[in-house]
Amino acid sequence: MVSEQKHNKGKLFVLAGPSGVGKGTLRTQALSNVENLVYSISCTTRKPREGERDGVEYHFLTEEEFEEKAAKGSFLEHAVVHGDHYGTLREDIVRELESGRDVLLEIDVQGARQIRFLLPESVLIFVLPPSLDALEERLRKRKTETEEKILLRLEGAKKEMEQAREYDHIVLNDVMERASEELRRIIMSYRNR
Ligand code: 5GP
Repeated sequence: MVSEQKHNKGKLFVLAGPSGVGKGTLRTQALSNVENLVYSISCTTRKPREGERDGVEYHFLTEEEFEEKAAKGSFLEHAVVHGDHYGTLREDIVRELESGRDVLLEIDVQGARQIRFLLPESVLIFVLPPSLDALEERLRKRKTETEEKILLRLEGAKKEMEQAREYDHIVLNDVMERASEELRRIIMSYRNR
C-alpha cells in the first residue's frame, strides 16, 4: 500500500508586539520549552547594548552593509523600527523550514505584516501588555533607552496595539510564566494538526 507522503516542512511562528512588552523573555522561554523550534537571529543597524554580542543577540551591521543585503534581496522582511533598520535573513528561515524545523521570529508589527503577506500560512502571535502604564514601567526599568527613546516607543506602542486583532493569537503578558505556557501551548497545538 502506498501511503500518502507527509509534508515535513516546518512552520513559521511570528511573535510581535510593542517594544518592552516582554517578547524577548517569552521567546527565550519558548525556545527552551519547545523541542525542534529554532530562533532566527535578525540583522540590525542599531548599536549593540552593553553585553550584546555580534551573532548572538543580533548580527550588527553598518548602514551600508544592511543596504547591500536589502538590495540583494537577502531579507525576507525588513523595517525601520525606532529609527534603526532591522531585518530577517531569508536564507536562514528557508533552510530551517525546509529541514522540517519550526522557526520563531521576534519582530515588530511592520515585519509581521510583511510575513503575513509573503507566507500567509505562518502563525502570527501578538504579545499584549497588561496596560500602557505597565509597559512604560517596564521600559523605564530596563534602563536601556534614553527618555526620548522611551517616549518614542510608547507612542509607537499605542498604534501597534490597534493591530492586535489582525493576529491569529493574542497573548496577554500579565504574568510571565502564565504567558509563556500559553505561548508553548499555541505552538504545540499546530504540531498536532
Ligand atoms: P530592540 O532594539 O529593542 O532589540 O528591538 C526593537 C524592535 O525591533 C523590537 O520590537 C523587535 O521585536 C524588533 N525587531 C527585532 N528584529 C527584527 C527584525 O528582524 N525585523 C523587524 N521587522 N523587527 C525586528
